[in-house]
Amino acid sequence: MFISTISAAASAVSRSKCTSEPGSTELMSLSADTLRRLGEIVGPANLQQSPEERIGYGYDATPMLAHLPDAVVFVESAQQISDVLKLANAEGFKVVPRGSGTNLSGGTVPMENCIVLVTVKMDKILEIDPRNLTALVEPGVLTARIDEAAGAHGLFYPPDPGSMKISTIGGNVAENSGGLRGLKYGVTRDYVLGLEVVLPTGELLRCGTKCVKDVAGYSLKDLFIGSEGTLGVVTQILLKLLPRPTARRTMLATFDTMTDAAETVSDIIARKIIPCTLEFLDKTTIACVEDYTKIGLPIGAEAILLMETDGHPVVVEEESARMIELARAHHARDVRVAKDTAEADKLTSARRAAFSALARVSPTTILEDATVPRSELAAMIAFIQQTAKKYELRVGIFGHFGDGNLHPTFLCDERNREEIERVHTAFREIFEKAIALGGTITGEHGVGLAKKGFLETFAGTTGLQVMCALKHTLDPNHVLNPGKIFD
Ligand SMILES: Cc1cc2nc3c(=O)[nH]c(=O)nc-3n(C[C@H](O)[C@H](O)[C@H](O)COP(=O)(O)OP(=O)(O)OC[C@H]3O[C@@H](n4cnc5c(N)ncnc54)[C@H](O)[C@@H]3O)c2cc1C
Repeated sequence: MFISTISAAASAVSRSKCTSEPGSTELMSLSADTLRRLGEIVGPANLQQSPEERIGYGYDATPMLAHLPDAVVFVESAQQISDVLKLANAEGFKVVPRGSGTNLSGGTVPMENCIVLVTVKMDKILEIDPRNLTALVEPGVLTARIDEAAGAHGLFYPPDPGSMKISTIGGNVAENSGGLRGLKYGVTRDYVLGLEVVLPTGELLRCGTKCVKDVAGYSLKDLFIGSEGTLGVVTQILLKLLPRPTARRTMLATFDTMTDAAETVSDIIARKIIPCTLEFLDKTTIACVEDYTKIGLPIGAEAILLMETDGHPVVVEEESARMIELARAHHARDVRVAKDTAEADKLTSARRAAFSALARVSPTTILEDATVPRSELAAMIAFIQQTAKKYELRVGIFGHFGDGNLHPTFLCDERNREEIERVHTAFREIFEKAIALGGTITGEHGVGLAKKGFLETFAGTTGLQVMCALKHTLDPNHVLNPGKIFD
């Protein structure tokens, strides 16, 4: 069962434009002729029109944002996507691309007059090329499947969002998703060599190649990565793969203060060790995860740090010994070293379960991803804790410590309007603080509907104008994913 989340900063403006409940059986605005033509393009079995069929596509993993789409189409080829978009331009309806709908910023929530275009049937791994270390995949392939397929050739696809078993690579590209291994290996963008994209007006664009070096003209692929489905629908992705690391070691350090955990992270990096994973859970999250997974986490500890290093066995040996030493130097009360792969996977899955575990304890789980430079982590965490106290809110904090990417998660109840107002105020202050510390309003979840109210403060007026100009150039009729990132 999927967890309940909300992007707390979702502005009143955004919500007022997404007013209908997903359960509403309101009539569609598409004409019978348009529906018939959509059916001809995708095939009748791939067109969903009844309220019961449409309801599941009216929301994503971002609660309190919902709107029933006018229709849902499951596409099977770039040609079908092109035909749907050409019809949208001609008839004036809007199109929301969607993979698995796990995004946390309302990125796939339809606005008025929208159909949802689902890519999950385009799920083929078209090629693994061990000579060039690349994979060519369709957008509906689940992220975890890519690494599995690469693994069969001794290769490795590093980006591993917590949702990797359910998210699609198309969604990862559109959100430029990160993961637990981001500290050492980077994010989705670092692995995209090329894209095939259907533009909002229906033309097919291919950009990028298998060449390691390619500087012919603007790097168009980079324009589409992180564009949240507003500039084009990605139909093929050429990915870079790496040789699979031959060894890894996973450790769990327990601390009595968050400051000690944060200083351990800073010290590891200052000593020029770049582990693949440095993730943390705070006291509230530890208790929820242990209650959920029963893997023996230290309930009562203020923080745990999941540390993982991978690579050549000799380097792994040396780095892990130094990391244990540094954790102890910063008063770790215990450092547990996974004895085998099974135990390592268990410890890693405890971190992956953080979000779901927190979501079990309250009707609404309000999660964000404020991000700061690593040197400001301790200050940011202290600020989040003080803010929660000031507004009498229960918060769990976990995240990608090594990337400075924090997930403060408020445990509340959306039926309690007054409490939700306090959550919004708290998040506003947290974002302002993140920006003041040199950070950003989102490290990996995107702007979508939820955070567009903050974008101008962060990107500046000129930055926003350039983004709007790009959008208008590629999508003159504003048919693709309207209302996302900016109005
Ligand atoms: C439990 C959980 C854990 C998570 N952990 C992480 C994490 O560690 N790191 C992280 O970065 N995120 C994380 N997320 C957020 C989410 O999983 C990612 O944003 C993911 O990339 C979304 O993939 P999706 O297939 O669900 O895309 P969707 O939610 O369906 O779509 C996301 C965006 O991409 C667009 N889109 C989808 N497919 C295409 C396409 N083919 N072409 C163009 N645009 C497209 C949509 O319009 C939308 O704007 C997590 C979410 C959950 C629920």
